[in-house]
Amino acid sequence: MADQTLDGKPLYRLQPTSDVEGYDLLAELALDMRTSWNHSADHLWEQLDPALWGLTHNPWVVLQTVSREKLQRDFANPVFFKSVADLVRDRHAAAEAPAWFQEAHSQSPLQCVAYFCMEFMLSEALPIYSGGLGNVAGDQLKAASELGIPVIGVGLLYQQGYFRQVIDKDGAQQALFPYNDPGQLPITPLRRLNGEWLRLELKLPGYSVWLRTWQVQVGKVKLYLLDSNDAANYPAHRGITSELYGGGPELRLEQELLLGLGGWRLLAELGIKPEVCHLNEGHAAFAVLERARSCMEETGHDFKAALSITRAGNLFTTHTAVAAGFDLFEPCLIEQYLAEYAETKLGITCHDLLALGRRNPNDSTEPFNMAYLAIHGSGAVNGVSRLHGKVSRHLFGPLFPRWPVDEVPVGHVTNGVHMPTWDSAAADHLWTHACGKNRWIGATEMLEQKMLCVSDIDLWQFRSAASKSLVEFVRQRFSGQLAMSGAPPDAVEAAKGLLDPDVLTLGFARRFATYKRPDLLLHDPERLLRLLNNPRRPVQIIMAGKAHPADEAGKALIQEWMRFIHRAGAHASVIFLSDYDMQLTGQLVQGVDVWLNTPRRPWEASGTSGMKVLVNGGINLSVLDGWWAEAYTPEVGWALGDGKEHGKDPASDAAEAEALYDLLESEVIPEFYTRDQQGIPTAWVTRMRNSMSQLTPRFSTNRVVREYTERHYLPAAAAYRERSADKGALGAQVSDWRHMLEQNWPALRFGEMTVETDGGQHVFLVHVYLNDLDPESVQVELYADGILEDAPVRQEMTRLHQLVAAATGYAYHARVSADRPAQDYTARLIPRHDGASVPLEAPQILWQR
Ligand SMILES: *Cc1c(COP(=O)(O)O)cnc(C)c1O
Repeated sequence: MADQTLDGKPLYRLQPTSDVEGYDLLAELALDMRTSWNHSADHLWEQLDPALWGLTHNPWVVLQTVSREKLQRDFANPVFFKSVADLVRDRHAAAEAPAWFQEAHSQSPLQCVAYFCMEFMLSEALPIYSGGLGNVAGDQLKAASELGIPVIGVGLLYQQGYFRQVIDKDGAQQALFPYNDPGQLPITPLRRLNGEWLRLELKLPGYSVWLRTWQVQVGKVKLYLLDSNDAANYPAHRGITSELYGGGPELRLEQELLLGLGGWRLLAELGIKPEVCHLNEGHAAFAVLERARSCMEETGHDFKAALSITRAGNLFTTHTAVAAGFDLFEPCLIEQYLAEYAETKLGITCHDLLALGRRNPNDSTEPFNMAYLAIHGSGAVNGVSRLHGKVSRHLFGPLFPRWPVDEVPVGHVTNGVHMPTWDSAAADHLWTHACGKNRWIGATEMLEQKMLCVSDIDLWQFRSAASKSLVEFVRQRFSGQLAMSGAPPDAVEAAKGLLDPDVLTLGFARRFATYKRPDLLLHDPERLLRLLNNPRRPVQIIMAGKAHPADEAGKALIQEWMRFIHRAGAHASVIFLSDYDMQLTGQLVQGVDVWLNTPRRPWEASGTSGMKVLVNGGINLSVLDGWWAEAYTPEVGWALGDGKEHGKDPASDAAEAEALYDLLESEVIPEFYTRDQQGIPTAWVTRMRNSMSQLTPRFSTNRVVREYTERHYLPAAAAYRERSADKGALGAQVSDWRHMLEQNWPALRFGEMTVETDGGQHVFLVHVYLNDLDPESVQVELYADGILEDAPVRQEMTRLHQLVAAATGYAYHARVSADRPAQDYTARLIPRHDGASVPLEAPQILWQR
């Protein structure tokens, strides 16, 4: 290519750097997210362009910006070249080595799990995330890669991602939307074999949307992204994927159609046939429809049968702790977008399609609930912590009327975080020393014992160094933030001396949503000031967090803090860092002493930020909500609240705020400042060691993805294979069974029940009238509520004989111990089918009384 010249002087070159020998190797490293979490190549990017690397942490940007000459010079250095070659070799070796899954499940036929999510937080170089949900998804892909679990991610590429935050002079949040230039993101366009870009045409009523397709390499795992910014689209449609969680309901619906329908279509286009489809939150639930549609095409079955075949392979993970958090769409919007799809592609009426997203199919005013669609289309459902599982059973209870709430079919897999992403270099070193290099890529059950052996001195030195790094980082970042906001030079300069690495540091960083109660500490500002400024035992706080641009209450909470910080006694010890993102989280969780979390129970489904301090030796002080409700014991951290729900009650908020100050004053602060002769806070260090050793393995994504694999992916894949075998014979049977249940259920009834007590046993006999139902399609159980914490008694009753003179009547009997009075027991009739999940797939139930 010719150089551009002006008056004979070269202006700029059109020549790419990609013909420099070795460039391809570097590109391979830059495009693999694995290098972002193992940090093995950081020194290379730093060497190529220290300033740009420091600002962006985006190796792909560095590589595209660096000059030819610089690249050639560096590659001429054998040390640099060898370093690159070694890393690429290491990458290939890691990709080929058998991992946990290949070893623990060597006989498993599981081929592919498709993991759908609206956002993925993988690296700050790929800003397509907002917060917790993306965090969970990104960390799970990383752990799946390391454990060798065959997962493929599916998501959307947003032109502007989630908004970026600046705090203006008045302490108000301003939202900015910088453009994500796809050429500078570590992604590659998908191409067909003939080299042309792989684009998909998604037909929406009245028009087509062209989708561009991209690939992100996450170690061994691939993440596919779709976006609509294709030149062939109408301007309005190019913007469908412009912003994450922006716009109104119609835009959200369009995005979810792209994700669910487009995502499944893309997999088909690539020849990928997942056995398991993991819907990470209800946003992705339209994948259920498209999966069933493609099954209809393959098997010739109708929609209902196809859904019965495919749903066995779908897993729905709900992340919402309140009904208001579900995505709801007006029926007319669904009609506008999906009526034609329902009729021409699925062969069902729009009413039938709407029913999939409703509690009451016949209520034409009921909005369409994406979580309901996900439930009606899945073979298993889980929440993301033990408490959230329970909360979800209440939330989804209305879909299973008359079932005891404990039997609402929602389990839980408690979240975790990907430790190699969130540990500091020093923490990595400490853990490697104690537990070995490969501690996060296999089973983790042995780590606790090993960590218990780390000495007080080693732990405290490690923590002290971490505090120092954090203070340096905050000074630099905060002075930059002040300079940007137009603060006077002396204020910018003064910021470089703020905070003290020897002072107890609390971290509070999270989304500013009212349920997270970021203002709890501000309940009594004078008391907080006294805490901060206690001359013998001072405290400092580092804060960060964004409020959704449309959330006025959340934004007001940020301003409230900014006003407090401007007070004379606060501005030196409370720092609010703007633009909370993955990189900022990383710095904070590596250095704070205490991570503070004050949600209103039970609104925090799980929470993950507190888990990120575990590996780094930070200690949690949190309301007993989400993950902390099951993690907390007195030796690993501090708990706030009584473990009960109080709603939005100002009096209990006030009581919890007082309890928080008390806890800080009487326990946290004294424990931190009580030192032995060597200056070590021994009680603190003991607590820290307990937290690190007991909780880190349990709340690592390593444990999470192993649990998903063994409890969900493997059984779901097996169930799907069974249902789809033989052109879906079993699936069709299940569909017929469901149809028979629906037809006959209203006519079923119990007859007489008698009980005789004899020899310490109750013998129950009951008559049941089954209408046209095959008695094999139901079961009769004797049921008694559990006493206190015990599980309820459920005992299957045996069918004895058909009743005389009643063509459809049967007698059932059961014996139970007479320890409990006979009146405690009742009989119930529920659906039964081998391999089907009841009540998830058949919610009928009939009680004898
Ligand atoms: C970890 C993380 C979250 C989730 O934090 P929670 O406290 O669980 O809400 C949100 N945003 C960012 C940038 C994170 O790193």
